Amino acid sequence: MQGNLIIISSPSGGGKGTLILELLHSEIVSNIGYCVSYTTRAIRDGETHGHDYFFVSREEFLARIENGEFLEYAEVHGNLYGTPIQSVKDAINRGKDIILEIDVQGAASVRAKIPEALSVFILPPSFEVLKNRLTTRATENPEDLALRLKNSFGEVGHFSEFEYVVINDDAARAAADLQTVILADRLRRVRQEAAIKGILSSFETSKNHAIGE
Ligand code: 5GP
Repeated sequence: MQGNLIIISSPSGGGKGTLILELLHSEIVSNIGYCVSYTTRAIRDGETHGHDYFFVSREEFLARIENGEFLEYAEVHGNLYGTPIQSVKDAINRGKDIILEIDVQGAASVRAKIPEALSVFILPPSFEVLKNRLTTRATENPEDLALRLKNSFGEVGHFSEFEYVVINDDAARAAADLQTVILADRLRRVRQEAAIKGILSSFETSKNHAIGE
């Protein structure tokens, strides 16, 4: 079975990072990877180049756009972010589902190119909870924090473009919901066509004998 793309979007502070980490370490959902994006954003304390993002200059990012290296890219909160197409191709050809943790603009671009991609929107339970999460994680300076909060008003309005919505009011339940959606996607008929073909051909070859008996 070929892998699928799993688009996960939410406003900053929606809790998608924690949910994705749970998913990557899940014993229930195997064969799943994470696509490390490129960004021009400054690296934060605790982040690692090549693990959280590939942190590059704006010039390098623009050169990579020119080279056609991105499946999608967008300007988000004043920085450029992009999904490297090669990582996505490698993962799905190896039969792995690959998580794209991208913003709502990137999600729309990927859906337009790959309609079968699974898309999930993570919604915080309220604006107050989002604000509280963003404030206590303290990864942004006050201006960036204010910008992310302001942008969240527009971002949540895009929920209806996504196939699934996971409300992140309880981390454990939200993680289980996300796993359920991914497992259900693997049961889609179109994703099982190769396996089904093998099963049906065993019926074909046995049919004549069975009828002759
Ligand atoms: P952060 O700076 O908090 O890591 O990410 C800011 C926003 O950029 C988040 O909404 C995140 O989902 C989004 N983002 C991260 N990587 C990509 C990407 O490759 N493409 C797009 N379009 N958005 C991304």
